[in-house]
Amino acid sequence: MSDEQVVYTLEPDEEIKAWYNVVADLPTPPPPALHPGTKQPAGPDDLAPLFPMDLIMQEVSQERYIEIPEEVLDVYRQYRPSPLYRARNWEKKLGTPARIYVKYEGVSPAGSHKVNTAVPQVYYNKKSGITRLTTETGAGQWGTALAYACALFGVTCEVWQVGASFDAKPQRRVLMEVFGAKVHRSPSRLTNAGRAFPEDHPGSLGIAISEAVEVAAPDPGAKYALGSVLNHVLLHQTVIGQETLLQLAKAGEGAPDVVIGCAGGGSNFAGLAFPFLREKLVHGTKTRLVAVEPTSCPTLTRGEYRYDFGDTACTTPLFKMYTLGHDFVPSPIHAGGLRYHGMAPLVSHVLHEGLMEAVALHQNECFEAGVEFARTQGIVPAPESSHALAQARREALAAKESGEEKVIVVGLSGHGLLEISAYEQFLAGKLTDDPLSESALTAALAGVPEV
Ligand SMILES: *Cc1c(COP(=O)(O)O)cnc(C)c1O
Repeated sequence: MSDEQVVYTLEPDEEIKAWYNVVADLPTPPPPALHPGTKQPAGPDDLAPLFPMDLIMQEVSQERYIEIPEEVLDVYRQYRPSPLYRARNWEKKLGTPARIYVKYEGVSPAGSHKVNTAVPQVYYNKKSGITRLTTETGAGQWGTALAYACALFGVTCEVWQVGASFDAKPQRRVLMEVFGAKVHRSPSRLTNAGRAFPEDHPGSLGIAISEAVEVAAPDPGAKYALGSVLNHVLLHQTVIGQETLLQLAKAGEGAPDVVIGCAGGGSNFAGLAFPFLREKLVHGTKTRLVAVEPTSCPTLTRGEYRYDFGDTACTTPLFKMYTLGHDFVPSPIHAGGLRYHGMAPLVSHVLHEGLMEAVALHQNECFEAGVEFARTQGIVPAPESSHALAQARREALAAKESGEEKVIVVGLSGHGLLEISAYEQFLAGKLTDDPLSESALTAALAGVPEV
């Protein structure tokens, strides 16, 4: 292997053909979702108005591996395996003895990892006879990914985009429209959940979810699709970590010292980290798994681990998760995809069990790392992904301090080419760090139900 190799890919016969379900290997089972009315464990029937049965069965599955349908593999093959880069230029700039590997999901058609789950979700819906999908989107990446997948399978796509992001990023809306979606600013006037707020409200993912759910539930031809948080979404993302394991082996590396991903709802982090968690649980490797979130929406580091709703209108099942409270509306930071009040129940469980770590970083430090990465590696990271890069930078500088040859794997969940206005503000020195105040946290947690 050349000393200067910088990109690792896979042979066709190394294609990942099954998703990995971490539940099969966890030492303790994760707590079940609860029905919002009865507060009893939610069964498959409770989810049936929103999701097709194939996805519900994946949601509750105990199977270790679930085969990826050929129709989904056909689409994955257009952009997978995604590259694993050795960030040699960045290492030099940092002067670190650490070896930094970057798994880059920005090569997907919509520019982020979200396509990995959008494609199977639309495929299973289409297979069950569904003709219309509704969803929410924060930063716009999920809406774009779902719009693309719907275009492929001939399904109508309707997106409620969080108001602050709708206003700040008209290009995102146009991109969704190019892929054929209908986009509404949330809170919209089309639903009860939206009309509960003034029309110019900045919105939140919680409100947008309520709107999309309200529209899908009564329409027999429609279902709802969620871009993160749920078990089946995390499952689909595990192609990322499974590929990375094979690619690292090609680079001649054993178990890395640390695997880092940003966490909004938890799907790109879990997709990268859970296959490494399996290595820990089954083979006793010592890899640290680190999720990174913004200080303005510090779900894992300052939220409470308890049952809460996934949305503002309290229509979803109750999930045991780290939460800031379903009423929480985070400040409009630029990492829109990290502005969710809750966290995937599986990621929450894994953190609670002490199998991973979480840190919160200020957005200015993240943009600094993002700009440094762009100037050395040529990729402009999504503001979300820059959180993972900032933590990787910290780890690399700590390795420099201690002189250790650490191996760092970092998930670059998407590119930031449609977030250039955020970079513009950063470069002009206009971004503020806006950590969540204790009083705002207490107020938001007051609305969490007692279960
Ligand atoms: C949506 C998104 C995130 C956050 O969502 P997760 O479910 O936590 O992965 C992170 N990065 C990018 C590029 C995104 O589009």
